[in-house]
Amino acid sequence: MKEDKIYIIGAGISGLIAALELERAGYSPVILEASDRVGGRMKTDKVDGFLMDHGFQVLNTAYPEVKKYLDLQLLKIKTFDPGAVIFDGKESYLISDPMRNPLKIVGMAFSKVGSFLDKVKMFSLTQELKKKTNEEIFNSPSVPTLQYLREYGFSQAIIENFFKPFFRGIFLEKHLNTSSRMFEFVFKMFAIGHAAIPENGMEEIPKMLRKQLSQTQLYFESRVKEIQGNSIHLENGEVIIADRIIVAVQPDQVMKQLQGQFAAPRKVINLYFSLQKSFLARPMIGLVKGEQLINNLVFMDDVSEVYAPKDRSLLSVTILDSVLEEKELVKAVQLELSEISGIKPDFFKYLKGYWIDYALPNLDDLRYQIPFTECKITDDVFLAGDYLLNGSINAAMTSGRTAAEAVIHSFMPTH
Ligand SMILES: Cc1cc2nc3c(=O)[nH]c(=O)nc-3n(C[C@H](O)[C@H](O)[C@H](O)COP(=O)(O)OP(=O)(O)OC[C@H]3O[C@@H](n4cnc5c(N)ncnc54)[C@H](O)[C@@H]3O)c2cc1C
Repeated sequence: MKEDKIYIIGAGISGLIAALELERAGYSPVILEASDRVGGRMKTDKVDGFLMDHGFQVLNTAYPEVKKYLDLQLLKIKTFDPGAVIFDGKESYLISDPMRNPLKIVGMAFSKVGSFLDKVKMFSLTQELKKKTNEEIFNSPSVPTLQYLREYGFSQAIIENFFKPFFRGIFLEKHLNTSSRMFEFVFKMFAIGHAAIPENGMEEIPKMLRKQLSQTQLYFESRVKEIQGNSIHLENGEVIIADRIIVAVQPDQVMKQLQGQFAAPRKVINLYFSLQKSFLARPMIGLVKGEQLINNLVFMDDVSEVYAPKDRSLLSVTILDSVLEEKELVKAVQLELSEISGIKPDFFKYLKGYWIDYALPNLDDLRYQIPFTECKITDDVFLAGDYLLNGSINAAMTSGRTAAEAVIHSFMPTH
């Protein structure tokens, strides 16, 4: 084992992958984590027999990094049925597989969301993106997704009925201003893979990564206040001198000189309700059309029954933005749920809500990967985290490995 003291700040996905790669190269890193457990933005709480992820999120089984680091069988992965149920006022319609098999959707069902030409365009986009490599996607010109969809010739109807609610829920912003590179990447992932969750919650993913670590020391409740040169100042006053530091959290948090360099992140609100029975009754995402509070909803136990006790169903509701106080918001959401389902508002029993201030980084320049030389910012300090590339589990994993490569390289003798 190599003796060099490498410290990683943050035990999110990127920090854990960095540790794993350093171990593979013979190092014994130390992770300093502010919270009480691994996972960062991927955490699951167990509350009264319900499993609650901190914000609705999914793993796409086609992510290239998934194959490298996760055993999907051991995770007991549960997949969503492709497509979505779209709620339009009191009406709802099911679009079975628009990003994989658009031509297979019966005309009647599709005509509710778009035209025949939309269907053909959806098909050609699927074919085009399947042929494009991920690198090519991220090297393509970047325009706002909404502009991209219009230029591709999609009708206003399919943009409003399908693309907006679906991609708002992924980009966590209302106007589809997010780069077309991310749109193409996500669309391709849905065309070749499945949205999925581990049977026992999203936190199983970081837990699986942690289990692969054997030479890494993890310190919890160890918030770093500041990094100065190669010294790490903890909030409790302790100072640690490191040979190398990987900052696996947005670095303005720990490096004063970088404050003000990042745009405000994307937020999201996730409310959980319990109900006697799912009104979707299928493992599918529900999308709410128009300017409602609710953007999307899922009955989590339709996907993995472990998420709720036997006699109850767990409804996860995603709200992109609201200034309402908790009590008012819950009431307003119960009313919207009642409108779309015909079930009395009071039947939606509010369980818990998560107000997530940092859900996704807000990035202009999205990348798929960067050369490891780019994540080195001083001789001692290296960067990891999804914000370096794009807001996804895949990107967090890539960035962790890249930072580890940079550190390993930095120890190599130069001739
Ligand atoms: C609601 C929501 C929905 C999402 N949906 C999806 C999705 O569907 N698909 C997808 O691919 N991705 C999704 N994502 C994004 C994905 O979760 C992230 O890209 C990924 O988890 C980021 O990992 P990370 O290691 O870069 O950062 P983080 O997970 O943020 O890890 C940073 C870690 O550093 C710790 N830390 C912070 N400050 C300090 C400090 N000063 N000292 C010590 N430790 C510190 C934090 O506690 C945390 O553990 C979603 C995220 C959210 C929140």
